[in-house]
Amino acid sequence: MRITHVDIGGCEGCSFVLIRAMKKLQGIEFKSRLLGKFEIENEEMIIVSGAVCLNSEKVDVLKELREKAKILVAFGSCASVGGITRYCRGGQEPKPEHMTFQPINAVVDVDYAIPGCPPSPRMLKPFIDSFVSGKQSNYMQIFKAVAKVKRLSGFDLIDDVVLQNICIGCGACILSCPNGALQMVGGKPDLIVEKCIRCGTCYVRCPRASQILVRRYIK
Ligand code: SF4
Ligand code: SF4
Repeated sequence: MRITHVDIGGCEGCSFVLIRAMKKLQGIEFKSRLLGKFEIENEEMIIVSGAVCLNSEKVDVLKELREKAKILVAFGSCASVGGITRYCRGGQEPKPEHMTFQPINAVVDVDYAIPGCPPSPRMLKPFIDSFVSGKQSNYMQIFKAVAKVKRLSGFDLIDDVVLQNICIGCGACILSCPNGALQMVGGKPDLIVEKCIRCGTCYVRCPRASQILVRRYIK
């Protein structure tokens, strides 16, 4: 399977995870714009990392990628749900003219989205394997569902699970948070709001919340 990676404006953390993880996977031919220049042809799968800046040429780049990709994948929280990047106000070096960042599904249709800041390579391997083997499993549903979501954060986890009294207190959300923004209080997770970088990882790792997404967008 041929897989092409293009970064359109992230911190490169996702890019490094992707490039390192891809080297270890079997059955794929991988190229990344970060490893050398090449023209984008009609591709089987294009993986995009980074949020899209709405007042930049990246909007057109993204539309072109969509046209040329049989399967378009958002990789990382910025590309998938906006992440911390969507709260950039502009005026910051080195791109002070850039003002407004959004997840890529604000501009084009996305087939699958893998959130994480950065995503774990352990989430990537079964995802890619399912295409190489041709066997699509239930595991893929959550990535299809996240592709439809415009934002996802610890606030949504607290609203949709803890405050709905469906939390089972398993702690998976706390273990998955890359920034220590969740803590267990009275057997249920509590959000330390100033630490939440809006990556959405806790939501997709929660057994309750992930099912909410699948039911809402897939079933
Ligand atoms: S609570 Fe943690 S895992 Fe959840 S969105 Fe915030 S930073 Fe990400
Ligand atoms: S992962 Fe979900 S069910 Fe488990 S403690 Fe966190 S909110 Fe509760």
